[in-house]
Amino acid sequence: MARVAIVTGGTRGIGEAISLALRDQGATVAANYAGNEEKARAFTDRSGIRSYRWDVSDYDACVAAVQQIESELGPVDILVNNAGITRDGTMKRMTREMWDEVMDVNLGGCFNMAKAVFEGMTGRKFGRIVNIGSINGQAGQYGQVNYAAAKSGIHGFTKALAQEGARGGVTVNAIAPGYIDTEMVAAVPEDVLQKIVARIPVGRLGQASEIARGVAFLCSDDAGFITGSTLSINGGQHMY
Ligand code: NDP
Repeated sequence: MARVAIVTGGTRGIGEAISLALRDQGATVAANYAGNEEKARAFTDRSGIRSYRWDVSDYDACVAAVQQIESELGPVDILVNNAGITRDGTMKRMTREMWDEVMDVNLGGCFNMAKAVFEGMTGRKFGRIVNIGSINGQAGQYGQVNYAAAKSGIHGFTKALAQEGARGGVTVNAIAPGYIDTEMVAAVPEDVLQKIVARIPVGRLGQASEIARGVAFLCSDDAGFITGSTLSINGGQHMY
């Protein structure tokens, strides 16, 4: 039977590439999105992958969505916590709302989704959870105390949940992407982006498909001995 996978933020950017890679690996994929209906519809039309709208920072919505997906597609075997946002600003300009929003989506979303699938996975003795962190959670970044803290939190969350899942056949890993050519990075001012690329040893931005390949590997049946790890895919920018 095909594995059933949920990819949060799975309809565009890195998440779209992850949804496609898992589908190509044989999984039945449910791709989540927050509100960009147009992008989600276009993604479903060209890929044939179903898309589901809910907010990962809303715990009840996560539980309800998992129930709906399980009734439509079957028990969830794979969860990729990819949904993420930025609300950048220096400490001077950062508001409490900017902090809360980034923590609630990026880190709270991981808890909400993992909580909704974890018991089922351990009960069935199989599960794969991959959380998308960031190079900025490893190294920090000017103007991103909220994002760096949330992403850094993802790495601790991963290692703790990996210990709880190990005996139940559930692996929990993280991927820490470097700078990837997506809309999130396109929003960075051109002069700042040039400085960033100059610091990447391979001399270019990464491609979403290069992150997706790592996720697909960690989600495969034969990656069962890899848990609690962080795979850095960053062109050598930060060797952790
Ligand atoms: P994008 O901004 O291109 O896409 C974000 C996706 O997340 C969209 O599908 C969006 O839905 C969804 N999303 C946002 N908020 C929510 C929410 N509250 N509930 C459900 N879905 C939500 O991001 P990227 O592809 O660039 O990034 C993907 C992940 O990779 C993020 O976690 C990001 O932090 C991380 N990352 C990205 C890097 C990069 O260089 N791009 C570098 C390091 C890490 P909708 O389409 O409806 O808005």
